[in-house]
Amino acid sequence: MPKSDFLVLATIPMLHFDNRLVRELPGDDDTRNHSRQVYGALWSPVMPTPVAAPRLLAHSREVAQQLGLAEHDLASPQWVEALAGNVLLPGMTAYATCYGGHQFGNWARQLGDGRAIFLGETINSAGQRFELQLKGAGATPYSRRADGRAVLRSSVREFLCSEAMHHLGVPTTRALALVTTGEAVVRDMFYDGNPVKEPGAVVCRVAPSFIRFGHFELPASRGDEALLRQLVDFTIARDFPELALLSEERLLRWFVEICQSTARLMVHWMRVGFVHGVMNTDNMSILGLTIDYGPYGWVDDFDPAWTPNTTDAAGRRYCFGRQPEIARWNLERLADALAVIAPEPSALALGLERYDEIYAEEFQRSFAAKFGFAAWREEDAGLVEDVFSLMHRAEVDMTWFFRNLALVDVQAPALGRLHDAFYRAELLTEHASEFSAWLERWASRVRSDNERGESRKARMNAVNPRYVLRNYLAQQAIDRAEQGDPGMIHDLLDVLRDPYTEQAGRETFAARRPEWARHKAGCSMLSCSS
Ligand code: AMP
Ligand code: MG
Repeated sequence: MPKSDFLVLATIPMLHFDNRLVRELPGDDDTRNHSRQVYGALWSPVMPTPVAAPRLLAHSREVAQQLGLAEHDLASPQWVEALAGNVLLPGMTAYATCYGGHQFGNWARQLGDGRAIFLGETINSAGQRFELQLKGAGATPYSRRADGRAVLRSSVREFLCSEAMHHLGVPTTRALALVTTGEAVVRDMFYDGNPVKEPGAVVCRVAPSFIRFGHFELPASRGDEALLRQLVDFTIARDFPELALLSEERLLRWFVEICQSTARLMVHWMRVGFVHGVMNTDNMSILGLTIDYGPYGWVDDFDPAWTPNTTDAAGRRYCFGRQPEIARWNLERLADALAVIAPEPSALALGLERYDEIYAEEFQRSFAAKFGFAAWREEDAGLVEDVFSLMHRAEVDMTWFFRNLALVDVQAPALGRLHDAFYRAELLTEHASEFSAWLERWASRVRSDNERGESRKARMNAVNPRYVLRNYLAQQAIDRAEQGDPGMIHDLLDVLRDPYTEQAGRETFAARRPEWARHKAGCSMLSCSS
């Protein structure tokens, strides 16, 4: 390296890397970058494909801080090049991992990181470990026939939503940065024979672990017990160190942990109205994090059958209301994989039982808070189910409903408080008496707690967000970014930092979905093409 380059590199702060995954797990001997089946290895070395003109569009200051980077470091030419995959900084190592998965209920065999390339594992000053990953950085051995790239629209959506989820208190992978590549990517958004050139982008994702259920399913499906065992031991040692010292109970205890964190995650999604859209087992995190933001969506008018994913429209496997059931199905597939090496396979059923218990407990705790009850009572189930059915029939906005419910005077409940949550005046009129009757029941239930109104309201507002990344808001930010103006990405990132607090002057970011967005692509339906 010429001396001048060395000096430049030496002046920008470097992260400390400790790349355990590639050090401790078997890698692929083939170092060429071509699509293939990879056996006996959990990762393949692969360099990102450089791009023409990287530009930093947005970054998360919280993630930068957590990693130990200053915001201006991130904006330095060296980091921008690194975030686009044009250079590796000292300590980084580039690879893609091998996994399989069940997609839409069917075993899909090997999938793998087809467009995500790891940069290694960094450790911050507090000793916390984070994997860094570039999504959209070019083809890998797992790309099959695809290009390994990502378009700006899907990258904006992943960047914004992972940060928004974090600030909502929902476990998630994070996003450090969003860069545009200066190159076009061709996509046929609706698979209708109309491919168009779209701007390309790369998101740098960050998580303690990107290991998925599918990582375990693939070696299990191939009968490679040794590899499966190695991966389980590694995952427990690195990502669940508190379990590492256990002996024969270890595998079961670990599976129970995964079931519990997945149950908690599902309650969070149901609480905030998030629909993942592609809950395939390759998109399920071993840490119970929300992972792989694709055709996800936010519930506007309450509808348990709503799915944002056009590919899912016919079967609705991944619709809002089925998410807890699908997560459990995915855990069953993970249990099938672990059964291959479990000392007592039937004991894994304990994990699934824990899933059911934790889901029920957490749901009750979370929804008691959403509805303003001091604690959940068995008879509350009827009250909650009745209003869900009403909200669906009357097309009521979920976010507005819960926020406004906190404003209702429980001594004299008036439906007027909820008017802003309705999308259609005629449906409000049609269901007004039913809603008023429900409000009376709800108010009397709340009065029976004998709690001060202010503390109840605070508890409700702490779990009922005012601002969520509504699909049409993300789409507006994308439309502007595609015109060269990233301003709305920054505005949304900022508003969504504090989603439970009323922010004066920012009412437009809380607005219900406007009528023009009801059936617009990107606003109410999304394709997997990204
Ligand atoms: P997803 O549905 O986004 O979770 O992706 C499923 C599989 O397809 C994963 O193995 C991805 O890595 C792969 N994949 C999706 N898009 C691309 C792409 N543009 N290039 C290469 N692989 C891709
Ligand atoms: Mg995926």
